[in-house]
Amino acid sequence: MTCAQLGGACDVIFTAETFDEIGELSKAHGAEMMQKGDPAHLQAMQAMMDLMQDPEAMGKWFEDKRTEFDALPDDV
Ligand SMILES: [Zn+2]
Repeated sequence: MTCAQLGGACDVIFTAETFDEIGELSKAHGAEMMQKGDPAHLQAMQAMMDLMQDPEAMGKWFEDKRTEFDALPDDV
């Protein structure tokens, strides 16, 4: 899945066996881009922060992404 698909702001592709693993990769990448002060990622992170204010919306977003991840072919 790409950074953008996971709530980020670029087309960097993450590959992982599990959704939890890809979540960690995406989080680490987001933190790195934030440290570099990348405006697009700062904005994306802010949007995620806003989403986290609403646990129900956050839970739904998370489930949607997990479903999306599970639907991907294993060799991608
Ligand atoms: Zn990114």
